[in-house]
Amino acid sequence: MSAEEKCVKCGGTNMVPSELQSTGKMYARPKKAKLSTILTTGVLIRGSICLDCGHVDLSVDVEKIKAVSKAS
Ligand SMILES: [Zn+2]
Repeated sequence: MSAEEKCVKCGGTNMVPSELQSTGKMYARPKKAKLSTILTTGVLIRGSICLDCGHVDLSVDVEKIKAVSKAS
């Protein structure tokens, strides 16, 4: 794993990995992506929850979201 994650809100280090859930995993897609891209791809949203203050930090894979954005 990478360097220890810190909470951006309180600076706490008790971060635990999480996934947003609906009936399945949730994905982010750039608005400008082509329809075919929107229908077939998405970038998984990763989350980290701070056990000190409850802040949920969300992020996506930068390289993947760039690739999807360029597909239009
Ligand atoms: Zn926190």
